[in-house]
Amino acid sequence: MKLLVKHVAIVALFFSSVLTVNAFPGFFSSNNEQKVTTESGNCRIYNPYAKTTKHSLKGQMHCHTINSDGKLTPLELCKRYQSIGFDFMTITDHEYITPEPEGNELIWIGNSYENTNGKTATTTAANYAHICVYDTDSMLLAPNFTKYRSYKTINEVQQFHEVERNEMINLCHPNWDGFYLPDSTMLNCNGNLSFVECWNDGAANDSMKLRSCCRGWDLFLSRGLRVYSLGVDDYHSGNSIGEGWVEVNTNSKNKKSIMSSLEKGNYVAANGKLGVNPIAIKMIQLKRNVISVQIEAPATIRFIGKNGQVLKQENSVTASNYAITGNELYVRVEVWSGVYAKWLQPYFIEKI
Ligand SMILES: [Zn+2]
Ligand SMILES: [Zn+2]
Repeated sequence: MKLLVKHVAIVALFFSSVLTVNAFPGFFSSNNEQKVTTESGNCRIYNPYAKTTKHSLKGQMHCHTINSDGKLTPLELCKRYQSIGFDFMTITDHEYITPEPEGNELIWIGNSYENTNGKTATTTAANYAHICVYDTDSMLLAPNFTKYRSYKTINEVQQFHEVERNEMINLCHPNWDGFYLPDSTMLNCNGNLSFVECWNDGAANDSMKLRSCCRGWDLFLSRGLRVYSLGVDDYHSGNSIGEGWVEVNTNSKNKKSIMSSLEKGNYVAANGKLGVNPIAIKMIQLKRNVISVQIEAPATIRFIGKNGQVLKQENSVTASNYAITGNELYVRVEVWSGVYAKWLQPYFIEKI
């Protein structure tokens, strides 16, 4: 379950022309906010990385077992993730809530499932999507689950799980070529969601461009919505395991700390091979209005703002920084080394 402080959107405060979305009060109520002076005046900046933490925990938040269309049993899947250095996981079978298997030694972040409304592929109908629901109530466990299948559209799924039940949900693979979500779907969606995937390894195999789906994420962020992003495997079978994940900053190695950091955006999304990504981030800092990033080995560091616009990019560097002007709405950072990336969560900017 997530804290009530979540679900907040920097909405009409910023854009009178913004699309119709629900406004949530109290967005800047946490101690992650910082008042700064920029060239365009005073701002409040929400800094997801404000809190220093002891651990970086690697986790999988989208994967399948024999309880839907995966090939491994739940315990086999947990053991595979354990063998490649993961710290936590959950399982997201289609329309089936797989409970923690006996013998699992990874941190279990609750029982989850992937809501597909029975549509596993091929539909491009507007306002439908695959949505992972995390740490959801055991009352939904099969076989009584069928009565909940009547929730059809993204907004209905959001209403039931994220709004009424206060559960975190993730809009899956918005750019999967077998289930491509048009921009209109994401613009019609009311934005009551915690995450949208920026990397789904199972979604498409034709091009890296298709597989990195930040277009959907930037559409939500550009509406002033606070939505974070996940890297995931969407693992079903074979050796393509550990190719998308999240690294969550926590002080304790338990579910509560992980969920709390996920809610605050205090984590990084990553892709890689067998759980390995060559990019090591040494430091992420917001000092006054300047975001600084340091990495171990030279790579490309990119700062991105509203509508996915690249605000600054430096290649083959081990450090870069960006001074917030106050007009960005949000700034997020991507670090790229060849085909591997780490996606930082956004800094949200409000003029005051
Ligand atoms: Zn799916
Ligand atoms: Zn899936």
